[in-house]
Amino acid sequence: MIKDSEKHIHPVTRLIREISSIFIELGFEVAQGPEMEDEYYNFDALNVPQDHPARDMQDTFWLEPKNLKKLLRTQTSDVQIRYMKENKPPIAIIVPGRVFRNEATDATHDAQFNQMEGLMIGKDISVAHLKTVLEAFLKKLFGEDVTIRLRPGYFPFVEPGVEIDMICFKCNGKGCPACSHNGWIEILGAGMVHPKVLNNVGIDSREWQGFAFGLGIDRIVMLKYGIDDIRLMYAGDLKFNQQF
Ligand SMILES: [Zn+2]
Repeated sequence: MIKDSEKHIHPVTRLIREISSIFIELGFEVAQGPEMEDEYYNFDALNVPQDHPARDMQDTFWLEPKNLKKLLRTQTSDVQIRYMKENKPPIAIIVPGRVFRNEATDATHDAQFNQMEGLMIGKDISVAHLKTVLEAFLKKLFGEDVTIRLRPGYFPFVEPGVEIDMICFKCNGKGCPACSHNGWIEILGAGMVHPKVLNNVGIDSREWQGFAFGLGIDRIVMLKYGIDDIRLMYAGDLKFNQQF
């Protein structure tokens, strides 16, 4: 039941609020960072090598003058670095925010979209904590019968990295257009924070460990509401927005 005060809130805003309240209940705080970012926070400190393709001009909006090494952030992971530099562990944060990619737009790609980053740092944190927290989150968002699986994945700032899939909530694993007919939906990227990243922010990786995760807000909105073109969400069409 939608409250009067919530009518016609944009579906992206609505989902950010819903996800934030789930993580706040799990003990996380909401952190924010700048959209105009330094190369250092967006790439270097996150262990993204100089020759990584993500730094290519095609993917990143670099700002003039180029020698200042300023860009529009390509991921919300930059806030991991900013937050860890300013706060001592233990840490449990989520970071919803806009990110930007300099690439061709189509039904599933836009130059601007929304991510949510998460970071938990503590003592003796393991992959088991990662799985428990993210499974609890997905059950609160999609329902108690959520089934997930972890697959190896690569992100420069975690080791090991995992991709988390869940059984398609539309077809319950039978196969449908929402899951590209394979029964599973990729929902999160995650992993144990790379010791190099902790060392970059002055946290002793022998004493502290943690996990990080990221999810695409727009993608989940599209899955949840059956929206087939991401560009509809940013066209500013009231007829679109009023459906939610
Ligand atoms: Zn399906």
